[in-house]
Amino acid sequence: MVKVIVAGFKGSMGNKATHMVIDHDDFELVGVFDPTATEKNLSEIAEFAAYDVPVYQDYEQINTDQADVWIDFTVPQAVYTNTKFALEHGVRPVIGTTGLTDDQVVELQQIAKERKIGGLIAPNFGLSAVLLMQFAQQAAKYFPNVEIIEMHHDNKLDAPSGTAVATAKKIAEVREAHHQGNPDEKETLAGARGADYEGMKIHSVRLPGYVAHEQVLFGALGEALTIRQDSFDRSSFMSGVAVAVAKVGTAQELLVGLENLL
Ligand code: NAP
Repeated sequence: MVKVIVAGFKGSMGNKATHMVIDHDDFELVGVFDPTATEKNLSEIAEFAAYDVPVYQDYEQINTDQADVWIDFTVPQAVYTNTKFALEHGVRPVIGTTGLTDDQVVELQQIAKERKIGGLIAPNFGLSAVLLMQFAQQAAKYFPNVEIIEMHHDNKLDAPSGTAVATAKKIAEVREAHHQGNPDEKETLAGARGADYEGMKIHSVRLPGYVAHEQVLFGALGEALTIRQDSFDRSSFMSGVAVAVAKVGTAQELLVGLENLL
């Protein structure tokens, strides 16, 4: 049995992850974490009434010897400290929270190396998004002019999305950085051309009703290619989270991207 702690268990993704761990035959939920939780036990929440699992509000309360994996679906301000805590206490992190900076990822990878512990940071646990990133990287070899549009629900805290940034980074591995559009273009409304990653523009849409969606648009002389993925329901991420929890024990370092464990 893989013993799991879920951080952010009261959030939209954390709730689904908590159910996934409870329902999985090979996983055992040994604790849930949220500094603002008022409950002492998960069973105080109606939908989890049958489960006697401690709720931790404080790192000091957590019996880390009892846990193998730390699932994190929290907020951008908390994820670095949570991941550091997990690594420093021998609990393998499976991080879904987005918003970590490149410097923070490097620091966490260094901690993982020093502590000789593996883990995973996955900006997207959906198979459709993982494949989109791979297909986009393949296409960018032939279509170097590319823009990314990501669309999410309007409660999302970070922009652009972690998946959009990860897509741009994957494309940048095969595409020479260059400016796109007219060199003399001027924005008459600030932000009209979106964020810029090595000359690729990233546009973030936030609307109620959306979950998580991304389009990668490639343009060339007389033709265009659009690659699109849609996550219509948060449960679509959970098979990826389950794979990560099951396989993260084999990771020798803090990996970035679910494809590294598939
Ligand atoms: P959400 O509903 O706002 O949930 C976040 C939860 O974390 C809230 O319950 C929040 O509690 C709690 N929290 C805040 N600070 C915390 C801390 N220090 N430790 C533990 N919990 C804390 O957000 P969501 O939609 O579930 O998304 C969570 C994260 O997952 C976001 O970064 C999102 O971008 C990411 N995400 C990733 C994937 C993927 O496939 N990798 C997919 C979807 C979403 P309060 O409300 O009391 O502050």
